[in-house]
Amino acid sequence: MLILEGMGTSRGIADGKILIIESENNPPKILDAVNCEEELQKFYTAKELAKSQLMALCKKASQEVGDETATIFEIHTMMLNDTDFQEAVEARIREHHNSAEYAVYLIGREFARNFSQMNDSYMKERAADVIDISHRMIHILTGSSEKPLENMPGTVVIAAEDLMPSQTIQLDKKKIVAFITRNGSQASHSSILARSLGIPSVAALGTGFAKLNNGDYVIVDGLDGTVIIDPDVITNAQYTVKKHALTEHEEKLKALKGTSAQTKDGYKIELCANIGHPDDILSVLENDAEGIGLFRSEFLFLGRNDFPAEEVQCEAYASVLEKMGGKRVVVRTLDLGADKQASYRNIPCEDNPAMGYRAIRMQLDRTDLFITQLRALYRASVHGRLAIMFPMITSVNEVQLIKKLCEEVKKDLTQEGIPFSDCVELGIMVETPAAALTADRLAAEVDFFSIGTNDLTQYTLAADRMNSKVAYLYDCGHPAVLRMIRYITEQAHKHGIWVGICGESAADLSLTQYYLRFGVDELSVSPPAVLELKEKIQSLELATLMESIDNTLD
Ligand code: PEP
Ligand code: MG
Repeated sequence: MLILEGMGTSRGIADGKILIIESENNPPKILDAVNCEEELQKFYTAKELAKSQLMALCKKASQEVGDETATIFEIHTMMLNDTDFQEAVEARIREHHNSAEYAVYLIGREFARNFSQMNDSYMKERAADVIDISHRMIHILTGSSEKPLENMPGTVVIAAEDLMPSQTIQLDKKKIVAFITRNGSQASHSSILARSLGIPSVAALGTGFAKLNNGDYVIVDGLDGTVIIDPDVITNAQYTVKKHALTEHEEKLKALKGTSAQTKDGYKIELCANIGHPDDILSVLENDAEGIGLFRSEFLFLGRNDFPAEEVQCEAYASVLEKMGGKRVVVRTLDLGADKQASYRNIPCEDNPAMGYRAIRMQLDRTDLFITQLRALYRASVHGRLAIMFPMITSVNEVQLIKKLCEEVKKDLTQEGIPFSDCVELGIMVETPAAALTADRLAAEVDFFSIGTNDLTQYTLAADRMNSKVAYLYDCGHPAVLRMIRYITEQAHKHGIWVGICGESAADLSLTQYYLRFGVDELSVSPPAVLELKEKIQSLELATLMESIDNTLD
């Protein structure tokens, strides 16, 4: 038996066998070749197979989504045929005796770096193509699958260095009982996904992660943040008792359905849920959420070969609105970039992606794509109560540009005789210090604010939300973050608009009293966290806490 210590990022206890998902950014396992001629042969065979895969994808794309996407695969085929690339890989194998996969990995990175340093913006974008081709070749050469759970018979505990949204989208969630990561934190994507699935996760295992092997039997304790490899009989028995107590508590929470999220002395707050996929709605309704405070629309854009068409998007939004009846659904427009990459978007590598070309910046640059999403949303708005929210706002100017585009979309739809609701609310995520500190001006422009504490915390404290080495600094309860939330709420209310929190800290029970004291109107958390948060709110008597809360911040 071996106990690994990490950070519990989603409550619960589960057990199962480990399946390790390799990061696409890591070097392949086999670095050196035994026989160069064999490696060269492997490389040529893989190249032919990659070409035939690309030709099939090109044909499929031109039939299903149009020629623009098909062109991407043509470009990839041309690059694969490029003699410079081929010669460089051959030289690496012959001169350094590298395995074919490692040679492709190294040369792919070198070529991508060269492209990304070019001045011409078209050539810069080719860096992502080279990386994509390298991944395809490495998958073929190592026999690894892009959909690792596809042929798994049973359930597994997923273990990874870190999981990107583009990877999690490919996973069959029904087969996962827990997540374990070497890196990551409370706000990393596998943690968020685990919480929304209601399964345990442990992040930041650090060097202990190396002790895990495929097929190991483990217990994952998301409460204590431990992973127990090959537990002994006594430990197994202790965990059976612990699991039983958890189930009993969950049963008790069910009795809170239908009751109000109100403190003992009458302070009320709206409790909503965050979702990343329409399938999550079942859990939203089961846990009695009053609406959807954040619907991350990225699921529509990841794990596919091109941007989804207006029709596809409209159907997805409409089905969520319908299923939620008249309850409010806040859909966030596309938040791609930084840690959420769609390979077909071909974003060149950036030195500081979290501060780079992402979210609304990308949308306002590619207004054609933005307008498609806005049209789909307005068209869907007749099916329920829609609010649209824009991510990563830093200025009033951005909001005014967005509002202008919304007006244009509405005008076009009217001219085309397509119906849409007049009551769509427009709001912004307040997740940059710039937006927080200009909340007074931004509040005059929109119908609501939703505070994204995941990003607001990382930008305010200069602590990367994905980096476990600085996780000790990443503190949503830091006075700087809490003061901002207080200020944002004051300004929102001065302008008569509502304010919610949709970052993960909305579910942090040690902060609930602060949010209530500030007068935040809504908290939006993963569906399985709704009832526990309600229990916490109902246990508080706010009047007795106000003075000490104010003292800690002033
Ligand atoms: C946030 O930043 O708090 C947020 C909700 O957005 P995301 O986690 O998707 O960046
Ligand atoms: Mg964010």
